[in-house]
Amino acid sequence: MSEQKKTFEHVIRERWCKGCNICVAFCPKQVLALKNGKVTVVQPNLCIGCRLCELRCPDFAIEVHERGKPESVGIDAAHRDYGISPEAEHD
Ligand code: SF4
Ligand code: SF4
Repeated sequence: MSEQKKTFEHVIRERWCKGCNICVAFCPKQVLALKNGKVTVVQPNLCIGCRLCELRCPDFAIEVHERGKPESVGIDAAHRDYGISPEAEHD
């Protein structure tokens, strides 16, 4: 079996990101940076998929997925519905 390097993609919900820098500070690989007050992925190839950014973000504004993998089932499957933004009106 050939060793293929895992790659990861990042889902960023810009509207939810308040630019607090927590994910940037926790990322051990300097994958992330703040630009214009929002997080951006500057070195995606360095990502090791540790998901610290996702776990530490207080606003659920960033998610990490392994590329080429079917939607992961399990631990956070129940929390996947981000269709409604926190600012949405409830009336
Ligand atoms: S998953 Fe880990 S390495 Fe990848 S961006 Fe998030 S904190 Fe950085
Ligand atoms: S931790 Fe969350 S809110 Fe803070 S900069 Fe990162 S993505 Fe944005």
